[in-house]
Amino acid sequence: MKKLVLFDIDGTLLTPSKSHKESFNLAIMKVYGVRVDVSSLSLPGMTDRQIIFEALRCAGKDDHTILKGLKDCEYALLEFFAKLSTFEKLKTLKGVRYSLEALRREGVILGLATGNLEGIAKIKLGRAKIGSFFRVGGFGSDHYDRAEILRIALERARNLFGRINKAIVVGDTPRDVESAKRVNLPILGVATGKYSTRELLEAGADCAVNNLKEGLPFLLDR
Ligand SMILES: [Mg+2]
Repeated sequence: MKKLVLFDIDGTLLTPSKSHKESFNLAIMKVYGVRVDVSSLSLPGMTDRQIIFEALRCAGKDDHTILKGLKDCEYALLEFFAKLSTFEKLKTLKGVRYSLEALRREGVILGLATGNLEGIAKIKLGRAKIGSFFRVGGFGSDHYDRAEILRIALERARNLFGRINKAIVVGDTPRDVESAKRVNLPILGVATGKYSTRELLEAGADCAVNNLKEGLPFLLDR
């Protein structure tokens, strides 16, 4: 019986990163010459590409112009983040390490489904020393839409490990919940980000915990 858990990163595995936010402002300025402040957007659960699009749309840029600079902007985002984040302490949230170790011992395949660009995800997890737990993933550099990122992660897992009998998603925002529902995967909401267990359940999460110390209740066994 092969089981897969796909984790979001920010607010689920790690504390949110200030330098990631700052890197958007710097990368957008460098590539598009526009001053933006991404903190004015409702960021939780947005993919990196969505953040670039939304920030520039708010600054009056059309999608054609945004698309033309997108690859350069993503490259600049990764470069700024690699530099700025060296001064930032990225911490795992409560119960994360415990939970990852327990799942790995049980033979569960651990994966990622994150809006972070792949390079940024890898830097973050490496700095927090949990990168080696994850064997597969879907990233913000794969797609604009979080549901598509989940589909891609699932497909990669099937290509690598064969038939997956049970897959669940773990995330901290209503956007994670909504995307899991769109691809018909059960989701555990974890209230270590900006949202409470109640808000996550109201958004449609199959189950919610205060933190991962409480484990991944029964969703994997259903
Ligand atoms: Mg998150």
